[in-house]
Amino acid sequence: KEVALLNERIELETPARGSQIEDVESFDVLPLSMATKNGLKRCKFTKPTKIQIGAIPHALAGRDILAAAKTGSGKTLAFLIPLIEKLYTRRWDIQDGLGGLVISPTRELALQIFEVLRGFAKTHTFSAGLVIGGKNFQEEQYRIIKMNILIATPGRLLQHMEQTPNFDLSNLQLLVLDEADRILDMGFSTQLTSIIGYLPPERQTMLFSATQTKSIKDLARLSLNEPEYIAVHEKS
Ligand code: ADP
Ligand code: MG
Repeated sequence: KEVALLNERIELETPARGSQIEDVESFDVLPLSMATKNGLKRCKFTKPTKIQIGAIPHALAGRDILAAAKTGSGKTLAFLIPLIEKLYTRRWDIQDGLGGLVISPTRELALQIFEVLRGFAKTHTFSAGLVIGGKNFQEEQYRIIKMNILIATPGRLLQHMEQTPNFDLSNLQLLVLDEADRILDMGFSTQLTSIIGYLPPERQTMLFSATQTKSIKDLARLSLNEPEYIAVHEKS
């Protein structure tokens, strides 16, 4: 029942392509599940930041996102909220396998994203794990095949794609490339191209980057489908 109402609201309230909803005072006015709204309140997140207002409504409607916003603008929730909502409105279940994948340039950043997810999404029942290396590979092989959401660094993720037999990515709903410019700066371009090759093409993708370089445009062409472009320049 809640899911049917949410889908109806999303259909009615999604802004036209190229436009954005007005500044809002609270996450409560967005078409989000009660579980997510309660989780956000628990973590004391009340008012969405500019990048969150810009990206979330388009992302909820299933659109690909190409977003540019500097550090500290609130990008983590801008992609984690749509990710959680996508799985929720598709009634994703533990047996449905991997539904959401976030790629981050470093272990530290991946860990930070994981902590934010664990905080506000505690009200949901999805399983989530980290794929960042530094731990026993075989142990990780058993652990990650059960996860609904993974936060990963490129090198280790590709290793699992190549070497973990039951690592099934065919159901993936949403891919996030966080700090994509930094991923490329760190020399992961080839790995990223290989990773994208392993993913189902009908997925939704959100690409976040602080800068818009030629290599980001190339990556956007490779990974996104009719993206909605969202840029936040001023302090939010
Ligand atoms: P970015 O990835 O753009 O650098 P983060 O997602 O790490 O930004 O968020 C930066 C800081 O802002 C974090 O401390 C986070 O808790 C806080 N933050 C994010 N969204 C909100 C919000 N809607 N309301 C209040 N604080 C927020
Ligand atoms: Mg960030």
